[in-house]
Amino acid sequence: MTTTSHSPEVTRALRQLKDARSEAVARGASSTAYVRMLDEIAELVINTGNPAEVGALVLDVLAKARANKSAEPCSVYPWCAERGDHDDHIGAVHTITAANGDELICAHLLHLAGTKPLIGLEGADLNADEARVKARELRTLADGIVVMADALDAITTAHS
Ligand SMILES: [Zn+2]
Repeated sequence: MTTTSHSPEVTRALRQLKDARSEAVARGASSTAYVRMLDEIAELVINTGNPAEVGALVLDVLAKARANKSAEPCSVYPWCAERGDHDDHIGAVHTITAANGDELICAHLLHLAGTKPLIGLEGADLNADEARVKARELRTLADGIVVMADALDAITTAHS
């Protein structure tokens, strides 16, 4: 964070966000979506210099998410996780996370309005054939990890 001086409202909002973040981290939730959201809100407060506007935006997003939860599931694709009226079809995200909760790899099926359907894999847009190639590489990697785990066991056993 920069040392730029903020208005009193921005400073107060940032202090509240920092306190909420510290509490979450103290609870062991340092890499959760909640903490990431707090960080993004703090960034918005800094960028806009208008905590009231950011607060209204956050409340709007939360209200829409709440309303959407009770809406009908997607009528176009069974894999789509979106609900209610929507043009962008987005599948559930499949992830592998590290022990600390950081995302190691994620993939999901997408069909955004006006574009071809695709599989998003770590920021890469893949067609079905490209996705199958990556899936094979991931299987090879998984097998390699098992071989390494066995080698690690052997090292650990020899040195314990
Ligand atoms: Zn959909």
